[in-house]
Amino acid sequence: MPGEPQDDCLFCKIVAGHVPATIVRETETTVAFRDINPQAPTHVLVIPRVHYRDAAELAAAEPAVAADILREAKAVADEDKLESYRMVFNTGSGAGQTVWHAHAHVLGGRGMQWPPG
Ligand code: IMP
Repeated sequence: MPGEPQDDCLFCKIVAGHVPATIVRETETTVAFRDINPQAPTHVLVIPRVHYRDAAELAAAEPAVAADILREAKAVADEDKLESYRMVFNTGSGAGQTVWHAHAHVLGGRGMQWPPG
């Protein structure tokens, strides 16, 4: 069922507490934890507790939760005292998505370039 936890999903296991993670914030609808392979001094993943394969599916099915992720990204940035930050939703393998549970990357604490690679 859309939105239900998936047995083979790493991020569902983090939400359930079955895989350890460095959790920085939790809300009723989201979990934020540090990326295991950080690409910046702050690199936090904000994920919905519900399972959807990417941000587009989440936004279509549960737009309020998608908005919660945007709010939580700002809260993460505030907690790490970031003046600016980048939020990235890799969507599809060609864009670099490797984990098929919607997530926002929140990156900051160093200079950023545009366009990204
Ligand atoms: P994607 O490539 O946009 O799908 O992002 C997946 C992210 O999950 C990558 O930045 C990985 O480093 C990160 N990641 C994979 N496994 C773990 C984990 O167990 N804990 C925290 N981050 C993870």
